[in-house]
Amino acid sequence: MSTAQQPQRFTERAPYRDAFDIDYPQENLEGQLHAYRCKACKLATTTINGRLENHKPDCAYRLSKAR
Ligand SMILES: [Zn+2]
Repeated sequence: MSTAQQPQRFTERAPYRDAFDIDYPQENLEGQLHAYRCKACKLATTTINGRLENHKPDCAYRLSKAR
């Protein structure tokens, strides 16, 4: 009945570190109203898909976030 033994380290098991990362500077793709890309590595947001690891390995934004 006790709940005292429940793991409380939710920051480790929940996908907090994996959260979507959409903070990066973006720019509009010319001629494509709803298409955007990362200003640093020029990959489309649809390619990056909110994931830091989907930026190019040498993306300045990715590097600035890398731990
Ligand atoms: Zn990037």
